[in-house]
Amino acid sequence: MIRSLICTFVGHVDHGKTTIQDYIRGTSIAKKEPGLITQHISGTKVDFSIIKGICGDLLKGKDIKIPGFLFLDTPGHASFNNLRKRGSNLADIAVLVIDINESIKPQTLEALEILKQFKTPFVIAANKIDLISGYRSSKDFLIKNLDAQSDSFKEELDTKIYTIVGKLSELGIISERFDRIDDYTKQAAIIPLSAKSGNGVPELLMVLAGLGQKFLEKELQINPESPGKATILEVKEEKGIGTILETVLYDGNLKENDIIVIGSLTDPIITRVKAIFSKQLNKTMKVERTQAVDLINISCPDLKEVYAGMPLRVANTNLEKVSKEVREEVSAVLIETTKDGIIVKADSLGSLEALISLLKENEIKIKHASIGDINKKDIQEALSSNDESDRIILAFNVKQIDKNRDVKVINHDVIYKIIEEYDKYIYQKRKDLAEKELKTVKMPAKIHLMPGYIFRQNNPAVVGVEVLAGKIKVDMPLMKDGKQVTQIQSIQESGKAISEAVKGKEVAVAFKNVTVGRQINSGDILYSVISENDFRKLKKLRHLLKSDEIQALKEISEIYRKQNPVWGV
Ligand code: GDP
Repeated sequence: MIRSLICTFVGHVDHGKTTIQDYIRGTSIAKKEPGLITQHISGTKVDFSIIKGICGDLLKGKDIKIPGFLFLDTPGHASFNNLRKRGSNLADIAVLVIDINESIKPQTLEALEILKQFKTPFVIAANKIDLISGYRSSKDFLIKNLDAQSDSFKEELDTKIYTIVGKLSELGIISERFDRIDDYTKQAAIIPLSAKSGNGVPELLMVLAGLGQKFLEKELQINPESPGKATILEVKEEKGIGTILETVLYDGNLKENDIIVIGSLTDPIITRVKAIFSKQLNKTMKVERTQAVDLINISCPDLKEVYAGMPLRVANTNLEKVSKEVREEVSAVLIETTKDGIIVKADSLGSLEALISLLKENEIKIKHASIGDINKKDIQEALSSNDESDRIILAFNVKQIDKNRDVKVINHDVIYKIIEEYDKYIYQKRKDLAEKELKTVKMPAKIHLMPGYIFRQNNPAVVGVEVLAGKIKVDMPLMKDGKQVTQIQSIQESGKAISEAVKGKEVAVAFKNVTVGRQINSGDILYSVISENDFRKLKKLRHLLKSDEIQALKEISEIYRKQNPVWGV
């Protein structure tokens, strides 16, 4: 049997995702919502008979076998991430809604990123064409109506469409107005429409049905007699009923009293279906049995620690086998963690999966990843990291119950913002740590004892020197041919005592415990003494050294390696 097509709407806020769906279901939820922002995931099941009614002649002669659509409204990316199905996306296809007058906005880009990540095919609804000046509404189909518009309207519409085409092409996506496409496998279809007048909505449905039929038919094959497979989209508490799981049943069937296995962070939860509420167009009905595809609310006894994004499977038989499969599916998300790395928290399995995948892409090591609020245990775990730059918790959309000033918490409801902020923080943190470490090591320096500037032979020896590299300081030990020969007692510049002198300076230096003509000579080159340990550290901190310091360090290592070829290795 072919199941309904699962389709989701994504795009920038206010570009019209809800209004398009409202037009399809003939209601006006968008108007009733505070701030007109969709608050929760909800969906609409639309039978093909209704689609046929909306599309009329557009589908004439087309052999569409899809029984209908399940449209899922996904406010924000958190919910989109939870449309997960064994590592891929639960949605077969997506509608990327773009306000044609605003073109591509930040959330459009984020939606595209996520579509790419899940390899979800999509079409583009270029909405709000009625706001282009000169638009005349008509009951005709889109192409006929567009043909009847003024030349200036047509020109402006084309300009706006090709602005979108241009921007998408910069992102590596080839797109074209749907009626000018020659290969739907290579080009993304843009359907200009007005959710307000409804013009273009039948064409959007036609393209979706056509694509579903043509390219996805194989993936839509299910067996309605098999045990149900579902994904939890949301976990809600309802007065008098308790925990309710908003769930998409995408394969098989589900009945009251079925034994079900639900994924969890530890052992899978095994429970029974107490009641099923199927969500039809505008009402919710209690049903005894349902089959895929359906958007249902399920109530079960004893539900604890259930999270959005988790798999749910019917297991009236083969309980052990199904439990094992569910456990494997969840542990595939919870990844192998490393000994070092940061802590990751998210509000659901789907967002955890998306965050982990992005962190992996950015080669950020993860020590521990889990679902739920940031608690004492997470803080302790972060504190136990040896590397200070690992004492970080990256969190998506959770509450922070505990904190500690030595643990940096980055908590956002936009995944990309988390990575952005992490990058900025870690750059600064590593720089600070490196600078702090640099202060603990002896720095490379090189001086030249200038001929003709011997002011005193010994007790102490005083010589005019030029600093050739780095910086000399009072008390700095100096070496010649790999052996420490003296230590700086004091430095003077134009008769005044100073504590240090940098490259380029000519100063008078008093050297302890040496005699000019014996351990040191006029014309000598002396270097600062560097231990092997400091040398290794300096090599790591090379990016913080000046070029003359790097050069001096190289010369110092060459001198030491004449005596010990593996010095500092
Ligand atoms: P969402 O945040 O993407 O779900 O956007 P909504 O569907 O809530 O729409 C945001 C605003 O745009 C609402 O005020 C809608 O009435 C308006 N809107 C949506 N589609 C159209 C359209 O085709 N034409 C016009 N003029 N306004 C629209």
